[in-house]
Amino acid sequence: MQTWGNIIFFILIVCLITTIIFILTLRATVKIKTRDFLLAKEKAEMADRLKTAFLENLSHEIRTPMNGIIGFSDLLKYDNPSKEEQSMYIDIIQKSGRQLISVIDNIITISQIETGHSDFTMSNFHLSTIINNVVTEYQETITSANIDFDIELNFDETDDFISSDQNKISQIINNLLNNAIKFSEDKKIRLKCSISNDTITIIVEDTGIGISQTEQEIIFNRFYQSDNSLSKKYGGTGLGLSICKAYVDMLEGNITLSSTVSKGSTFTVVIPISYPKETTPLKKEIQPQKKHNWNDKKILVAEDNKSNFILIKEACKQTGLTIDHAKNGKDAIKMQRSNMYDLIFMDIKMPILNGFDAYVSIKKDFPHAKIIAISAYAYNDKKRKARKMGFDEYITKPIRPLHLIKVLEEYFGNSN
Ligand code: ADP
Repeated sequence: MQTWGNIIFFILIVCLITTIIFILTLRATVKIKTRDFLLAKEKAEMADRLKTAFLENLSHEIRTPMNGIIGFSDLLKYDNPSKEEQSMYIDIIQKSGRQLISVIDNIITISQIETGHSDFTMSNFHLSTIINNVVTEYQETITSANIDFDIELNFDETDDFISSDQNKISQIINNLLNNAIKFSEDKKIRLKCSISNDTITIIVEDTGIGISQTEQEIIFNRFYQSDNSLSKKYGGTGLGLSICKAYVDMLEGNITLSSTVSKGSTFTVVIPISYPKETTPLKKEIQPQKKHNWNDKKILVAEDNKSNFILIKEACKQTGLTIDHAKNGKDAIKMQRSNMYDLIFMDIKMPILNGFDAYVSIKKDFPHAKIIAISAYAYNDKKRKARKMGFDEYITKPIRPLHLIKVLEEYFGNSN
């Protein structure tokens, strides 16, 4: 009897322990499930909030440029504006159009990314060309907003022929630059690019409003925009950084951010690349030119980089101009003495004798010589120096062919 009693007691104890373990496990499971559920709920609510905010922003981001387009077209049509007003209105319409296209492009891009329709398109290109193209897009904004913009290309322009997805790289730079311009209260921005081994590094630095530590973790989420009221003031759809991140991931690179509130932000992108098999680099793309009849004019291009000289020559090929080339400042002085050019384009950074020194020497002998500075560095101090010295003009690379022709028209007239 005693034995049976012990057995039953033992079984009861085992049952009790099992039940306690079961209850504890159940409680732990319920706790985990509840936490997961709450997290998922919070995430879903956050996504919902972001989506609603996105739709509200979208309406704002579309209506603002539409307002410019419709309003100023109406003024053009019904208000009989003067020539100057017409051109101002057209500028606003064009700018609004570009703004609108960029919003639309971003939406298309994000939807392509989400549906897995964003393919990797490999092509061969000059890194400097796409950087120059992106910067050109912002040139007008940079100039009119008086932004202190530095561009640092730490590679030789003849060594930048690479293979990757140029549209994606271009859009990454574009979005980072767009944000830097938007959020840079101090208006100081630096774009640095380098190529080493099999990677390119792109760094976009600004001295703007900065991003808090907590936000740095979620800033790359789609639709996310800082709650910061300053940030809200600048508009946007909250898509730019998520596109950057998705593209960088597709290119198997990485994007990092370091930022301090009120001090500024630095975005660093590192992307692996390869090099084209063919050895002949692509010809740089040249826009169509207006025709001119400047057959009696001759100009000198003092420029150590041959492809930059070729670009100027190609840009002017329908103008009838005679164009000579000096590879450094010393040659430029010599050639001016024997040819007396109607105009000189003078690169600032040249070997043997730089553009500033060559300018001083030429002006001493030919005080009326027309000399236009050309430089790849958009440093404001260089610009200021050139203006102070008396250069007739300062053109920042990338040189846009139509802009070049426009500058030449100021000196040689419009022969059309
Ligand atoms: P958008 O600029 O259209 O709002 P983004 O995805 O490009 O969308 O950026 C998301 C948010 O990240 C911005 O709304 C802003 O709050 C913050 N942000 C991005 N870049 C910067 C920057 N350079 N400085 C400060 N805040 C930034």
